[in-house]
Amino acid sequence: MDEAALREVMIAALVEIDARGLNRGSSGNLSHRFDEGMLITPTGMGAGEIAADDLVWLGFDGSVRGRLKPSSEWHFHAALYRARPELNAVVHTHASHATALACLRRELPAFHYMVAIAGGDNVRCAPYRLFGTQALSDEVVRAMHERRACLLATHGAVSAGATLREAMKVMIELDSLCQSYLAALAVGEPAILDAAEMAEVIAKFRGYGQGPVAADGG
Ligand SMILES: [Zn+2]
Repeated sequence: MDEAALREVMIAALVEIDARGLNRGSSGNLSHRFDEGMLITPTGMGAGEIAADDLVWLGFDGSVRGRLKPSSEWHFHAALYRARPELNAVVHTHASHATALACLRRELPAFHYMVAIAGGDNVRCAPYRLFGTQALSDEVVRAMHERRACLLATHGAVSAGATLREAMKVMIELDSLCQSYLAALAVGEPAILDAAEMAEVIAKFRGYGQGPVAADGG
């Protein structure tokens, strides 16, 4: 995909996140690996006001191309691309159900088999650190180990994927799973699938041949 097409795809994703109610004002951001760096949303702007040429290119060497300032959360986007060569897109939101669980500072356990969409048998919650800091970035990379998503304590959620579509799908599913988990917790203590049961789910997702994200899982 060339740069102009990628910028359009990113804007469409921003609009979709907004339309699905996963964003709050200008709080979300997303990026895509591009040309020894990444294209990332600018800081302090809502989805509806960002145009394709407002996206900022940020090089891994610190160079910047664009007339606006990049999202204040660019640190963890950059850290994930550096640490995880297989990831090409990162999405960050303050989606309400994921954020509610993050504010309880609890991880999302395997209360439902679709938790495997994030790559394992839980979605970890990274410890609280101030937004826009290297300290938060370090915790995000740790919490995302062998995963495509994590919660950020008292903050929100991050998802990632080999493609932007994959990262989006994980974010949408994560918020919905958090909603179900919180609803279950309000009544009682949901059963948790054990490691063997989750390994079976992950193997079955892989068996579909398009990775866990492509699976609807019945
Ligand atoms: Zn945030």
